[in-house]
Amino acid sequence: MNRREATARAMQVAEGEEASVLNSPAWLTGLSLRGRLRSHEPMSRHCTWRAGGAAERLFEPADLADLVSFLQAAPLAEPLTLIGFGSNLLVRDGGLPGTVILTAGVFGQLRWLDERRVEAGAGVACAKVARQAARRQLGGGEFLGGIPGTIGGALAMNAGAFGHEIWSLVEAVETLSRGGRVQRRPAAEFRANYRQLEGLNEEWFVSGTLRFDVDASTTNFQQP
Ligand SMILES: Cc1cc2nc3c(=O)[nH]c(=O)nc-3n(C[C@H](O)[C@H](O)[C@H](O)COP(=O)(O)OP(=O)(O)OC[C@H]3O[C@@H](n4cnc5c(N)ncnc54)[C@H](O)[C@@H]3O)c2cc1C
Repeated sequence: MNRREATARAMQVAEGEEASVLNSPAWLTGLSLRGRLRSHEPMSRHCTWRAGGAAERLFEPADLADLVSFLQAAPLAEPLTLIGFGSNLLVRDGGLPGTVILTAGVFGQLRWLDERRVEAGAGVACAKVARQAARRQLGGGEFLGGIPGTIGGALAMNAGAFGHEIWSLVEAVETLSRGGRVQRRPAAEFRANYRQLEGLNEEWFVSGTLRFDVDASTTNFQQP
């Protein structure tokens, strides 16, 4: 890029920043958020395929309380898209309206409840859960090692491989409603089909409690 191009680009960026401040909706004014809120964020930075247009706004909450504050302030007309690692997303060039919310840094807790059950935050990598289960000689979760997404993304689409799928391991989940309410719900409240899930209505996953087999040697794998 030569000097003239660099100056033109700098002016474009400055105009864009100014426009984004001017376009900032009234409901965001005075809202004290601890996380990062950006305007016109290229989704190519947040999708595995490194392609796609810009999100009108992108919010990286500091923690669950920060996200709840945001949700309670957001009007119903604001489109909200919650994403994990973006490994199953292809965003159109025209971008996404409203706010995209990143979970990866927020729902990062991973807590073993007993020798075979783990409560995994929606932002935890599936591979991390698979690794920890394998270290404990537990079976049934090996397929998670090959899924390059988060637990939240895997729950949302009933991710699976080699004849196994995540919802066969799920005991319960925590969900977050648009109004900011967190609720614990048993797996029986959802219906998992091939790579899709019924039972989630204007809600998102905060965590999932997964139960593994005590003996890893009993796991059967189907060839793809
Ligand atoms: C190379 C490659 C290999 C893959 N292999 C497999 C495979 O073997 N098996 C398989 O099933 N998939 C596979 N996938 C697809 C993808 O990895 C999975 O769908 C994964 O579960 C998506 O998780 P993510 O965190 O990246 O979700 P994202 O791509 O970020 O989001 C996917 C969807 O889930 C929703 N979502 C994300 N987080 C939440 C949440 N917390 N609550 C509610 N909704 C949420 C998003 O809104 C979006 O609709 C593969 C993808 C790639 C690129």
